[in-house]
Amino acid sequence: MKIALFSTKPHDREFLDKFNTNNEHELIYFEAPLNADTTNLALGFKAVCVFVNDKIDAITIDKLSKIGVKLIVLRSAGFNNVDLEAAKNKNIKIMRVPAYSPQAVAEHAVALILTLNRKTHKVYNRVRESNFSLENLIGFNLYNKTVGVIGTGKIGATFCQIMLGFGCKVIAFDIDESEKLKEKGVEYKTLNELFINSDIISLHCPLNDDTKYLFDSATFSKIKNGAMLINTSRGALIKTSDAIDALKNGQLGYLGIDVYEQEEKLFFKDLSESIIQDDLIERLMAFHNVLITPHQGFFTKEALDQIAITTLKNFTDFEKGLPLENEVNL
Ligand code: NAD
Repeated sequence: MKIALFSTKPHDREFLDKFNTNNEHELIYFEAPLNADTTNLALGFKAVCVFVNDKIDAITIDKLSKIGVKLIVLRSAGFNNVDLEAAKNKNIKIMRVPAYSPQAVAEHAVALILTLNRKTHKVYNRVRESNFSLENLIGFNLYNKTVGVIGTGKIGATFCQIMLGFGCKVIAFDIDESEKLKEKGVEYKTLNELFINSDIISLHCPLNDDTKYLFDSATFSKIKNGAMLINTSRGALIKTSDAIDALKNGQLGYLGIDVYEQEEKLFFKDLSESIIQDDLIERLMAFHNVLITPHQGFFTKEALDQIAITTLKNFTDFEKGLPLENEVNL
């Protein structure tokens, strides 16, 4: 099958080509994102393949449908950027990579915690300048701290197990509780109990109507004074302007984010010679207790292998009329 792949980087080509043995599929790589302005690039293709910041809204879907696109394959687990109802109405199938490497993202969440806490990013630069002082480097033990996990699916469950290994007390909230995690020592609580009791909160639930702005000024007013918030899930779980207020008044002690509300204008691009127009991220970057990574939680060799293998399988399943194991339904 001939597929138009959007928002691609050299690593997408490297990993997909590695597993596209015998050139089973004809992969045409575009660096451009897919949105209402770029659908004409998909002319002549029955299938398109997109990533987290492509905007597959109703207008885009309408335009794709008019030029004959029948399949949209996401190279991601999250699908909040796709209007599923519009796709259903136009009879366009949506597929994704539901699980590739929960360890990749869970371990990145831990990296954010350890870096914010022990300030290794700061000391790395300091030591390179022959400054061996310990000034302002005091951290805290993770052992015995209470970690609140929101969303205990594949990534959240993996994260819980890592934090249990550190000797943390792990409490959680999910609309669907896991008996396996309870057996391992995770205690499910109400959201309010989790907000009040956690020293560190890590977000692993999807972005949807129920979870958008889960962290706004009302939530920040409930959390432990000086708590740490980690978000490797989706940017809009946190209302950025309210997070800035909470950081200013000290309610929020540390913020580690791998995802950001307006990331599509920034992430995956080298903007070092540009003037950043987004004042919110500029303000966030100015805090000494904020750590931002550019949606790199998934970025390990193992995860990229698995994303490529599943994406190619999704193309094949659709082309051969096989059951669509990884279809996203409304
Ligand atoms: P998953 O579907 O296995 O788990 C999601 C969990 O969230 C489920 O247990 C579900 O019951 C729970 N949930 C749903 N609605 C909820 C609510 N309102 N409150 C609390 N919990 C709720 O998904 P996953 O593979 O663990 O991925 C989690 C999220 O991580 C994805 O939605 C995606 O946004 C994000 N993600 C980020 C990266 C990255 O690179 N940073 C990579 C992959 C996934």
